[in-house]
Amino acid sequence: MVSIDESGFSTEQTTFIKAFVSGFCQGRDSIPHLGQDSDGRFTHEVEETVHGTPIDDLCKEERIKHTKNGLDCYDEILANALDNKFPEAEDVFRYKFHGLFHVAPAQDSFMLRCRIAGGALSTYQFRGLAEIAQDWGPGRADLTTRANVQIREIEPKNCPAVLMKLADLGLTSQGSGADNVRNVTATPTTGFDPTELIDVMPYARAMHHYILKNRDLYGLPRKFNISYDSGGCVSVCADTNDIGFQAVRVTQDSIDNHPSEISNLQPGVYFRMQLCGITGHQQFATDCGVLLTPAETIPVAAALIRVFIENGNRTNRNKARLKYLVDDWGFEKTLEETQKKLTFPLRRFPLEHCEVPNPKDKQGYLGIHPQTDGKNYIGICTPVGRMSVAQMHALADIADQFGRSEIRLTVWQNLIIPGIPDDKIQAAITAIQATGLDHRNHNLTGGIIACTGSAGCKYAAAETKGQAVALGQHLASKMILDLPINLHLTGCKHSCAQHYIGDIGMVGNRVKIDDGSTVDGYNIVLGGGCDDQQAIAREVWKSVKATDINALIEQLLCTYLAQRQDGETFAHF
Ligand code: SF4
Repeated sequence: MVSIDESGFSTEQTTFIKAFVSGFCQGRDSIPHLGQDSDGRFTHEVEETVHGTPIDDLCKEERIKHTKNGLDCYDEILANALDNKFPEAEDVFRYKFHGLFHVAPAQDSFMLRCRIAGGALSTYQFRGLAEIAQDWGPGRADLTTRANVQIREIEPKNCPAVLMKLADLGLTSQGSGADNVRNVTATPTTGFDPTELIDVMPYARAMHHYILKNRDLYGLPRKFNISYDSGGCVSVCADTNDIGFQAVRVTQDSIDNHPSEISNLQPGVYFRMQLCGITGHQQFATDCGVLLTPAETIPVAAALIRVFIENGNRTNRNKARLKYLVDDWGFEKTLEETQKKLTFPLRRFPLEHCEVPNPKDKQGYLGIHPQTDGKNYIGICTPVGRMSVAQMHALADIADQFGRSEIRLTVWQNLIIPGIPDDKIQAAITAIQATGLDHRNHNLTGGIIACTGSAGCKYAAAETKGQAVALGQHLASKMILDLPINLHLTGCKHSCAQHYIGDIGMVGNRVKIDDGSTVDGYNIVLGGGCDDQQAIAREVWKSVKATDINALIEQLLCTYLAQRQDGETFAHF
């Protein structure tokens, strides 16, 4: 029988970890202070600058990274686990390199953010995540707006076990937080979507693995997002990313009609490279004039990220995203610098000569849809992305029994079960409804997304997830919408739920009441969208108390339904 000590480890495990940690720590003391060379690789000498920025000028986070790469704090994770201790000072930031966020004071525990290439999971992996949530978390998991999974309430003593279990599942959380390339997203229906131009999952996966295998691609000036849009009618919000790869078709006619110097361009499917989407700063990614073959997207993204690493702002966090480097340089210089790191020429070709994809079908991922192989996928609404462990196991069972043992996550905090034959649809739907979830698109509940909010994030000015669920239930009881409306609730200006691209966006704001104290509240923005409905929502109301939200949004939607002109959307209203 295995005996378990207070740290939660077996005696054998504790002996091993103590020996390992103490041996490693002793050995490390004799190692010279570590620095990075100009390619981000480790040297045994301290450099005077970090990519040209003098050490004294670095902002706080840059100094932390310079002192020690966050990837190298695993021994601290192990050592702290033995005492069930949280990291101190700089290590709080470094833990995020391993996807571990100490979210005090909102919760005195860790939130684990995984890394799931293209949002594609096998049922084995999905069940494994449910087991992590059951054994070491709160018995539930959250789907995120990067088609990812987060699990909260993890104690320090359980961090090593959680990270090892992730690895056993063929998953990782490496680089999912801090100044790193975040989860690579892809159209969630790619590979079986009859409306798409190309299956982008192989490229999203290749990008994911390229980043994981290249240590110099960690410790960027700030976070960095990459997305692949397959050109189908289901959105992945690619234009909200630092790099959005948008599939397009180039025809022989368009090649013949363009007086290009590109003599060897063949008709086919290519990617446009859109740069600098950052909706929290009210900016979409813009086409930079470059046309790439699918295989070229990985080296080009890597080259651009390396240009960003070498030249991004490391003194001011507010100016450290790629957007600000490109604002300074312009596309031309950015592409010239990127070109220097490539062995093939960047292909310039105007967007106007490409066939751009179909318009997106808002909330079109929900419900039953035909696949290219004659089977079907079912999109399921998981309100604000929250699922109990029991629901996760039931969904995995459904995907095994009726589908192809796969689950796809969307950037809308919902999920898809693919590969269901016609004769199994009804049984699958019955099983889905037995979980308490719903595949039907009610035009409203499927489009409500919310960030973590004050229940789990120290920055939040409001309890967004609870408010979102209550608002959805209230509206569903009052009205039936005849067109899809997206509602985005975000707890603060960091915009994790991307309020600026919602038809209705709400951003948390503390509201002062008569006795001088403050209560949860929101500023309301209207008319946002992405893809072919690209628009930044504009602020309409400020400081609305949370308790007044349900009535206000109900009134707003009733007025919209009564007074809209033909085809008028919230962007025009
Ligand atoms: Fe936290 Fe703000 Fe992000 Fe919401 S938007 S999860 S409150 S940082």
